[in-house]
Parts: sequence; structure tokens; C-alpha cells
Amino acid sequence: MRCGVDVGGTTVKLGFVEGKKIVDSFSIVTKKETLFDDIFSKIVEYTKKNNIELESIGFGIPGIVRDNYIVKMPNIAISGIDLNVISKKYFPNVRIKASNDANCAALGEAICDTDNVKSSYFITLGTGVGGGYVYDGKVVDGVNCACGEIGHMFIDHIHNFKCGCGLSGCLETVTSATGIVRLAKKYYSEFETKIPAEMSAKDVFDCAKEGDQLGVFVLNMVSEYLAKALANLAVVVDCECFYIGGGVSKCGSILTDCIKKYYDKYSFYATKDTKIKLAKLGNDAGMIGASYL
Ligand SMILES: [Zn+2]
Repeated sequence: MRCGVDVGGTTVKLGFVEGKKIVDSFSIVTKKETLFDDIFSKIVEYTKKNNIELESIGFGIPGIVRDNYIVKMPNIAISGIDLNVISKKYFPNVRIKASNDANCAALGEAICDTDNVKSSYFITLGTGVGGGYVYDGKVVDGVNCACGEIGHMFIDHIHNFKCGCGLSGCLETVTSATGIVRLAKKYYSEFETKIPAEMSAKDVFDCAKEGDQLGVFVLNMVSEYLAKALANLAVVVDCECFYIGGGVSKCGSILTDCIKKYYDKYSFYATKDTKIKLAKLGNDAGMIGASYL
């Protein structure tokens, strides 16, 4: 049995994984002061109670990790934690590994894809935009743990919105849930629309499904930015498929179909057949992926 831990800003999800399935899972509240002792104590308690021997424990961390050393978790305001040291207190003989949370979700989607995919790139569209690159069953972290940080690829010289990272024109500024709302508000007065003035990204795409002018305009704009980003990535990593995940992707094939339309326009001829799929695992991807790090 493997354990996959998905560390979040408000809760931590712990999954116990056998094969590619989560057989049991539970959540604990994220407490900054005692976070990893809380997590390890819970795992000890669970494994003792159920008489389980763990093969490995994997961690999906919302931040930067190098060799199991957490450099920074900006949303939880924790930095400088060595998981190798803490884990020795609780599980001296169990292999542990940590990576960025989007990388873990990328790995989860890749290993659970029944198409037996060897190389894939996962993009998560949520409050921000993240991603991860998986090659031959392994996450590619990169030297700075920045491989997959597609949200901060420069893509938009038209609006050039300021990004949370300090740069401007990042993919995140125009394709995250926040970015979608930002675009809809920017063009609000130029179209007839049923989208409420105080909208969510879901409102925008729900209206697009019904043919709302502003909704369709924003959907096209967001999809075009994403397609350009994917076309750029394709000539760098030349992967078999892209997965589109995160809260925004819940709108379904209307988004992937629109991305495909533009991808065909912008992609290099050799990478035109790269598949663009909706991610399937939702919230479980991070736990499953972490357990396979
Ligand atoms: Zn940025």
C-alpha cells in the first residue's frame, strides 16, 4: 500500500492507494505550526489501526520542493522544512518523496490514463494556472522545480495584465478562473450578454454554452491563449497528450473543443496530432500521483 498526501492551504488530503485506486482517504485541517507532525501522526495512527505496511509516502506540496526539502509554500507561509528529517521520526524505513502539487496531479492523470501514455503535459486551470510534465512515468521537476509552471509563460502582449508573480502578460492572467472573469469584465460593455455583472468563470462558460455573445467571445479568447501556449510547449516537450484539468475544466468539452480548433491553427505540423484531453480524476489526481512519486 502507498500513501499519497495532497497538502492544501486549508485542508490536507491523505489517500491510501493500492494499484491505481484510492482504497481509503480522509482530510485533516491545515495547521501551520504542526503541519507535518500532524500528517505523519495521522498516517501512523491509520497504518497501526489497519495493520498496514506502507511501501512509500508521497507529498504534493503547494510550492517549491528540492530533494524533499520544502523551500517555500507561499500560501501557507511555511519555508525551510526538511521532510527527510521529520519522516525519520515516524517512518525511518519507508521511502518518502515530495514534489509540487500540480506535478503530482500530472502524474496521477498520466498513470491512470488507460491509453498507456508515456509522455504527457497536464495543465490545471483554477484560481491560478499550473501544470506538470511527465515523461516515462516520472515527473520532471527541473533544476528550480519550475518545470510545468506554464501559468507564468508570457503569452499576452495585448492586455499585458499584471500577474501575481510580479511579471505581466502571463498565461495565468487570461486563462485562470480569475483571468476569465477579468476578460469578461473588460469586454462587458461591448456585447449583449446575460452574464451577471458580478460573475464567476463558470457563469461565463455556462452562458457561452447557450450562445451568449460575450460568453462565446471570452471562451474563444481564452482557448486561443491556451492553444498558443500548448503549441509552444509541443515543440519543446513533444509529448503524446495534454490534459486540461482544474475547476475551470468542469465546463467540459466546450473548452477542449475550442482549444483544439486554435491548436490546429498554431501548432507546428509535426505536433498537430497531439491529443488534448479533459483530465478525469478531479481531486483524486494529486493523492494518486503523490503516492507514485
Ligand atoms: Zn506570472
